Amino acid sequence: MKSYRKELWFNTSGRRSFINITSQVSECLRESGIEEGFVLVNAMHITASVFINDDESGLHNDYEKWLEKLAPHEPVSQYRHNLTGEDNGDAHLKRQVMGREVVVAITDGRLDFGPWEQIFYGEFDGGRRKRVLVKIIGE
Ligand code: ZN
Repeated sequence: MKSYRKELWFNTSGRRSFINITSQVSECLRESGIEEGFVLVNAMHITASVFINDDESGLHNDYEKWLEKLAPHEPVSQYRHNLTGEDNGDAHLKRQVMGREVVVAITDGRLDFGPWEQIFYGEFDGGRRKRVLVKIIGE
């Protein structure tokens, strides 16, 4: 069995953003030389997500509005977590809803996606360097 590990780094300027990382994960798969197996992609921070969905700007706008309704950033005083001196209580909740990781099957050396599936990094507390782990196992 082969094994491959890589960290992808991000430093988004705004507080929140969605980045399509499918081509970076595909590049990892190419580097790994693995033809059959699985790839795990997970955010290594508790205020960021990795998820799979459509690369459609309207949908991303809908996510942003929906998440702000569920867990508005302001007022920051509404979150007990922010009593620690942080202001990212909302970001922890948004990450929980959008998920920590995805697993994708690898078949014939390719990501075995369903129609329109793409992998995204979801940032909810940006403005600093953060990582995503790519772990591939197979043969
Ligand atoms: Zn926090």
